[in-house]
Amino acid sequence: MFKKLLLSFVLIVGALLSIALIRTLMHSAPEPTVNVGLTADIDGEAATNNLAASIRFKTISHQDKEKFSPQEFEGFIKWAADTYPEFHSAMQLEMLEYTLLFKWEGSDSSLAPILLTAHYDVVPVIPGTESIWEEEPFAGVISNNRIWGRGALDDKSGVVGMMEAATYLIKNNFQPTRTVYFSFGHDEEIGGGGAAQVTEKLKQEGVQLQWSVDEGGMLVSDNPMIPDQQLAIINVAEKGSVTLDIVANAAGGHSSMPPKNNAVSVLAKAINKLEENPVPGGLQGLSATMFDGISRYFDFPMRMLFANRWLFDEVIDDQLSNITFANAMLRTTTAPTMLSGSIKTNVLPIEAIATVNFRVHPRDTPESVQAYVERIVADEQITVRTRGGEMHLRYHHGKQTVIA
Ligand SMILES: [Zn+2]
Repeated sequence: MFKKLLLSFVLIVGALLSIALIRTLMHSAPEPTVNVGLTADIDGEAATNNLAASIRFKTISHQDKEKFSPQEFEGFIKWAADTYPEFHSAMQLEMLEYTLLFKWEGSDSSLAPILLTAHYDVVPVIPGTESIWEEEPFAGVISNNRIWGRGALDDKSGVVGMMEAATYLIKNNFQPTRTVYFSFGHDEEIGGGGAAQVTEKLKQEGVQLQWSVDEGGMLVSDNPMIPDQQLAIINVAEKGSVTLDIVANAAGGHSSMPPKNNAVSVLAKAINKLEENPVPGGLQGLSATMFDGISRYFDFPMRMLFANRWLFDEVIDDQLSNITFANAMLRTTTAPTMLSGSIKTNVLPIEAIATVNFRVHPRDTPESVQAYVERIVADEQITVRTRGGEMHLRYHHGKQTVIA
C-alpha cells in the first residue's frame, strides 16, 4: 500500500516537473528584429549644448504658487523661440498660461491628430541638499560625458528632444501626413493645470486624438533580474492617487498625568496595522503582460517560475512584493507621509493625524481603498478622512472647527 502511494506520488511530481520544464523551455525570448535603414544625421554636440542651456532657466514649480517666477518661464519660452526658429515658424502656437501648445498641420485632415507631450517645469531643490549635488542643479554643466542638472531627465530632455527632432525633420522638408500637436507643460510637477487646459481646448475644438505619448520610462541596463540586457520600459498605464488622513482622538490633558489612551499612541498602532496589512494585490493585467515578456530573459530558475504561473503564482507574488518597484506594480501602495499631534511639548493632543498617500492600482478605486483602510484601522478612537478634493477639504476644516 505504502509503495503504491509512494509510486503515485513520484509519478505525479514527475509529471508536474515535466510539464513545468517543457513550459520553461518554451518560455523563451523571441529572435530580435533589427530595423536597418533609418538614420538621422543629428548634430549631437549642438543638441547637447541646447539641453544644457535649457536647464539654466529656473523654471521651478513650487507648491506655494506665490513663489512662481514668471521671468524664468518667459526666459525659457524666448530661448526656445530663438533656438528653434524653424520649429516655431512651421507651427501655430497657442499659450495656455505658460503651457505651450503647438500645432503642426498634417497634409491629410481626414486623419485624427496625435499629441506628444512633455513638461519644462522642474521640482525645487530640497532645502539642505544643496551641498550634496555633484554639480550645481541649474548650471547646466556638461562633464564626464553627462549633462547635469534639474530637468536633464525630467523632463526638459523631452521638450528639447522633440524640438530637436521636429527641427531636423523640417530642415529635411518633412511634412506630417497626420496633424501633430506638441504640448509643453509649465506646471506638471504640481498637478498639471496646463495639461488640463490643453485637454479642455482640444475638446472644445472637437479634436479626437488617435493617440498621445507623454514622458516616462527609460532604458535600463542594470535591472538585477536581467543583468546583461537592456530593458526599454514603455509606460502604458498610470496609477491613481488618493490621500487619507488617519485621525486619532483622545481626551487630551497635561503630560504630567498622561492617561493610557494617548492619541499619538493610538495613531501609531493604526499606522503599524496599515504597514503590516498592505492592500491585497497580485500580478495581473498589464503588469502580468510585462513580466511575461521580460521573464523570457531571466535565468533558468526565475524563468521556470514565470513560465508556470499556474503552479508558482503565490511564490511569484511573494518574491515580487519584496522588490520595491515590482511591489508597486502588484498593488495599491501605502505611504504615510505627514504627521501632526500636539502643538506643545507638555500638552496631550486631542487629535493626532497621519496623512497617508495611496497609489491606486487599476483594480481598486478611491472608495474601495478607503473602505479597506477603515476596516484595517477600525477603532473607536480612529476616524478616516479624505483629503481628495476641494469639497472634502471644506468638510475637513468644518469638522476641525467642530472638534476645536
Ligand atoms: Zn516629469
